[in-house]
Amino acid sequence: MGENCTRRSFIKRAGATAVGAAMLGSLTACGNSGMMNLTADSSVAENSTAEGNEFYCTCGWSCSFCQYRIFTREGNVAHMLPKPDFDYVTCLKGRSRIQRTYSDARVQYPMKRVEGTARGAGEWERITWDEAISEISKKWLEVEEKYGPLANSYYQGGGGFQGSLNGNAGMIMRLFNATGCTKWDYSFDNATNTGLTRGGIQWFDQNEPKDFVNSDYILFFGGNPINAQIQMSKHLFDAQEAGAKIVVVDPHFSPTAAKADKWIPVKPGCDAALYLGIIKRFMDEGTYKADFVLNHTCAPYLIKKSDGMYLRGGEYQNEPLHVGPPFWVTGLPTEIDPIMVWDEKEGKPACFDTCQNPAWSCPDENYITAWDMFKDHVQEWTLDKVMEVTGISEEDFDFLYNVLQPENKVAHYINFGTGAYENGLQAAYAMTAMIAMTGNFGEPGRSVGGFDCMYGNFFGHALTAPSNGKMCKAVTWLAACDIVSTGKLQGEDYPVKTLWVSHGGLIGGSVNSGRNKREMLDKMEMIVVQDPFLTDTARYADYVLPVCDMYEFEDVIPLNHERNVRITEKCIEPMYEAKTDSEIARLFGEALGLADAVCDVTDDDWWKGTFDDVPAAVEHGITLDTLRKNKLMRYVDEEPYIGNRDYKNFITETGRLMFYVDNPTPRTPSNFDVAAVTEREKMPTYFENKISGENSEYAEEFPLVCMSWRNPSRVHMTHFMKDWARDVMPTPTLFVNPEDAEKYGVEEGQDLLITSTVGQCVMQCALHPGIRPGSTVYYKGYSETESKLGSQGAITTDYADAYAVNCSFFDNRIKIEPWKN
Ligand code: SF4
Repeated sequence: MGENCTRRSFIKRAGATAVGAAMLGSLTACGNSGMMNLTADSSVAENSTAEGNEFYCTCGWSCSFCQYRIFTREGNVAHMLPKPDFDYVTCLKGRSRIQRTYSDARVQYPMKRVEGTARGAGEWERITWDEAISEISKKWLEVEEKYGPLANSYYQGGGGFQGSLNGNAGMIMRLFNATGCTKWDYSFDNATNTGLTRGGIQWFDQNEPKDFVNSDYILFFGGNPINAQIQMSKHLFDAQEAGAKIVVVDPHFSPTAAKADKWIPVKPGCDAALYLGIIKRFMDEGTYKADFVLNHTCAPYLIKKSDGMYLRGGEYQNEPLHVGPPFWVTGLPTEIDPIMVWDEKEGKPACFDTCQNPAWSCPDENYITAWDMFKDHVQEWTLDKVMEVTGISEEDFDFLYNVLQPENKVAHYINFGTGAYENGLQAAYAMTAMIAMTGNFGEPGRSVGGFDCMYGNFFGHALTAPSNGKMCKAVTWLAACDIVSTGKLQGEDYPVKTLWVSHGGLIGGSVNSGRNKREMLDKMEMIVVQDPFLTDTARYADYVLPVCDMYEFEDVIPLNHERNVRITEKCIEPMYEAKTDSEIARLFGEALGLADAVCDVTDDDWWKGTFDDVPAAVEHGITLDTLRKNKLMRYVDEEPYIGNRDYKNFITETGRLMFYVDNPTPRTPSNFDVAAVTEREKMPTYFENKISGENSEYAEEFPLVCMSWRNPSRVHMTHFMKDWARDVMPTPTLFVNPEDAEKYGVEEGQDLLITSTVGQCVMQCALHPGIRPGSTVYYKGYSETESKLGSQGAITTDYADAYAVNCSFFDNRIKIEPWKN
């Protein structure tokens, strides 16, 4: 640090950075001549290669995990550039992380709410780490003793940082598992994955994005990457140049639709009806890929008419268990009671995995094949009905059907949009069935995925299991209010008294924040939030613990769109009194009397376990040391990786895609009425969303459906502290179609009072002809402190499907009017 420049003065000056410079991802810094704008200093990058001042960091948010070259000067981060050979477009959110790290919103030291003040009132007293650890641990142990371990609870989100050691599946999870507390499952964005998984598709076994160039079509369902995954645009545009056509199915003319070759507008929340209509047409016209359907789906499986369950070998002929496909999570062998098919040659049932002549239909009146059952099921989805329910035109329906023909190589780019409704699980399940008709997997140009390669999740997860053998009990956050109000989960006593949040912005990031505050948070005897920033959630805590941000620790990022692992290096010392998650886990492990179970794993053990447990890492020589040298290492040889070769990676019991499941299970425990909807879960089914549906009981009072787009200047709730984000997009904004604006008497630029079925907020009106009439869209990610009244989190409903148990972020209805302050 220079003579006249302390770390504090550096930070103060950094806070005063001009927006223009920040947009270029740089900050002012101290130098002998005082303030210097590093963007103007073109010599910085060339001159910053001296040992010790150049590092590699990986932007650890859950959008792409872009890797950067980081330049430090005098112990501070001064500049960052994308890694020279990085094959994606990085974004300004990542390139301006320096502003975030040095922002005024950093939590600098442990803080305690001033006794007698209300939660959220902003009255804090500074305490030491020792005081924080002692007071929090004391309360945690008291609650555990009085009510049992499940009365303490832990909430983690996903978007904060995804490192192996310091991410949400790192040491901190080992700590909470060791306590055996309740772990709130945040229940975001799960419907799509749950529906695809039920059908058998591994969402993360897609071809790598470089393979887009080999596709005839890139088909977007519920995806808007130009906002949400801008880094993907290079590969999309490369593919377009190579001749691939981009087709976007979306209610709105989204930024991605604007770049597409074809936009297919549909009504919100009706996707399952569209897919069922296409499946019917495949069946009616016999254009499905027959050998694939017969041999890689449940089509020939026999269902007993008596009870709707599959006929199994054990029951039918005392068949011993067969060897099943390896369990996709662990790779360990499985044993299964084989499902029976009708052997056409022998004229009797036979095991699916040994029968050479499975029949499409069964002559025995006791059974029906899944194919015939499903064929009956989709018959109602005539073209007229599909057009009526989804709003699609006949021309667009024909176009989509032709795109999906098995001879076309299609990259299905599926993201979270279709799942953001009550019926989202069914939409994804129906999509699986539709793609099953085409066998569109396992070759260059053919893939299905969301391009968030969760495979990397397998690195190091075993270490989250503590050595005392305990584990958290996962319960959905969506049931938290009910559980706390009633003190019961599924009829059993279930008191919850404390809440600890890490990696999570549950206020604003989750749904119905007003209810969550009233019925859950306000009832807690203690709320602890560990976070680098004073987020809405942190402001509502009793204790806030400062956590390190990127640049301040070393970690490994195993997730991204490709099959590689990336390092993120420590470039500077932790700022203020911030500690890493792993340090916090160890400190509280000691204080809670769990040192033996938590602290017995050192960082070295962690890295060894992270890589030694994963055969692909061992095979490719990935260790922390080799990563330190190489910065990024692939764990497959093939490039680009092609997912699901030979159709080996379908993740069902029998290794086949399913469109009939005889024993559907909810994604996670809740207090919701599962039995009431079990029957409709067996086959992909369209049902109208209770809230956003056209015929909803709320439609008259709340005429507009309200959805959201990812914000180009923010990632979830993590950028409110950046000056440029506030300057470029300063105001929460609601996009309204001009026809609706006229109808409801609102104008461009006006502050709107938005009233939903659950809460209120104020956003500014922006007219947008690309928004589907009857619906609205807002950019998410604004903090409560940025709203003139209420907040975005207060208007989203927490109504959920009992099986998906998912935050239905798009399943909202609102009314709008000019706001009279
Ligand atoms: S925010 Fe996402 S796209 Fe932007 S740099 Fe970071 S990881 Fe990449």
